[in-house]
Amino acid sequence: MTQLQGIAASSGIAIAKVYRLETPDLTFSKDKIDQPDHEVKRLHEALETSKSELEKIKEHTKKSLGDEHAEIFSAHLLVLSDPELIQPIEDKIKAENVNAEAALHETANMFIDMFKNMDNEYMRERAADIQDVTKRVMAHLLNVTFPDPALINEEVVIVADDLTPSDTAQLNKQYVKGFTTDIGGRTSHSAIMARSLEIPAVVGTKNITSQAEKDVMIIVDGINGDVIVDPTDEQVETYKQKQVDFEKQKQEWAKLKDEPTVTSEGDHVELVANIGTPDDVEGVLNNGGEGVGLYRTEFLYMGKSQLPTEEEQYDAYSSVLKQMGDNPVVVRTLDIGGDKELDYLDLPDEMNPFLGYRAIRLCLERDDIFRVQLRALLRASVHGNLKIMFPMIATLEEFRQAKAILEEEREKLTNEGKEVAEDIEVGMMVEIPATAVIARQFAKEVDFFSIGTNDLIQYTMAADRMNERVSYLYQPYNPAILNLINNVIEAAHAEGKWAGMCGEMAGDEIAIPILLGLGLDEFSMSATSILPARTQIRNLSKKELASYKEEILSKGTAEEVVEFIKEKTQ
Ligand code: PEP
Ligand code: MG
Repeated sequence: MTQLQGIAASSGIAIAKVYRLETPDLTFSKDKIDQPDHEVKRLHEALETSKSELEKIKEHTKKSLGDEHAEIFSAHLLVLSDPELIQPIEDKIKAENVNAEAALHETANMFIDMFKNMDNEYMRERAADIQDVTKRVMAHLLNVTFPDPALINEEVVIVADDLTPSDTAQLNKQYVKGFTTDIGGRTSHSAIMARSLEIPAVVGTKNITSQAEKDVMIIVDGINGDVIVDPTDEQVETYKQKQVDFEKQKQEWAKLKDEPTVTSEGDHVELVANIGTPDDVEGVLNNGGEGVGLYRTEFLYMGKSQLPTEEEQYDAYSSVLKQMGDNPVVVRTLDIGGDKELDYLDLPDEMNPFLGYRAIRLCLERDDIFRVQLRALLRASVHGNLKIMFPMIATLEEFRQAKAILEEEREKLTNEGKEVAEDIEVGMMVEIPATAVIARQFAKEVDFFSIGTNDLIQYTMAADRMNERVSYLYQPYNPAILNLINNVIEAAHAEGKWAGMCGEMAGDEIAIPILLGLGLDEFSMSATSILPARTQIRNLSKKELASYKEEILSKGTAEEVVEFIKEKTQ
């Protein structure tokens, strides 16, 4: 038995055997061979096995994520059937008497280099496809397992160094009972997605991959952040009981699904949800969400081989708006970069991607991409209560520029005779400290603020949100953060605007009373946090909490803040 402590990233308890998700060792030796026909046969066997796996993954992805996301696998299948790639590999085996591994590697690399350097974006995408599929074929030649989360068909807990958002999107809830990783924090996007998929997760254990062997039993406690490898029978029993208790607790919370969110004196607070895809809306409605406070549209752009079209986007946005009826839906424009990559845009590698070319910075430069999204949003606006916000705004000029592009697109659509809703609110994320500091100036021009604490904390504390080694500095309750938040709320209210929060802090049990006291208007969180938050808020007095405001803001440390608020709310 080994016990590790990590960061509780998605609540619930998982008990199952370990499935290691790791890139296999694909090193090989280049050998001279004397039976080229045999090598060619091995090559074709590896190609066939890879094809049938890709077919399965494609089908699975189609079912779970829709046709667009499955497209990338069609592209991969095409590569594997392309005689222009396969024939030269065969020729090389025969002409040079080398093994299939060497012939595959050298031929594929030649094409990858050639395509990568082309001006044509389509060809550059092909380079990425070849790179991806040759890894799979190579694994089969070497007889090593190539892990495919989408193909898992028994109950497991995934153990990995890290999970990318696209790995996470492939997980099948029916079989993947939980996951645990070496790296990552509560606000890394895989953790955020685990919460929307309702899969228990513990991240940032530092070394689970060196402790958990394949097929061994493992317990992941996403409530407290504990991971137990090879548990005793007694521990399994204890955690099974915890599972039952957690289910009971969920049933208790569910009783408030259709109740309003009100404080003890009857003040209404808006509790809305963060989503990544139209499919997440079901979870929002099941958990009694009063709207969508953050729709992270970048997932529409990920796990594909090309940009989504205006029509695809229009369909996705309309679907969310229609499902939410009159309830507000705040859609955030493309926030790519950081830990969310788009291979097909072929952006240069950066030393500090979280401080780099991303989100609104990229959209303002690549306004061809931005305009397509804005048109899709504007057209969809007639189907519900749409609000638009821009991510990663640092300066007023950026906000003005983004808004001006939006207005241009609105005018074009109107001239084309297309209908657009009249009263779309346009706001911004406050996640760069510079904007929180001069929120008063911004408040005159925006319709609303949504505070993105996931980034605001990392930028204010200079502590990478993904890095478990500095997670001690990632302090939501630090008075520096609370003062910035207060500044934003006061600035909004002074101009008669509203201030919400869509960072993970909005659903945090300790933060909720503090934020309520500061006067936050809207709390947007993972759907599964809504009912616990509603339960909590019903027992809180906003008036009383507001009276602690000055004292909280003048505390010296996060610990003092926590101690104070716990004492006052218990
Ligand atoms: C944030 O930064 O708080 C936020 C909500 O955006 P994301 O987590 O997508 O960066
Ligand atoms: Mg952010």
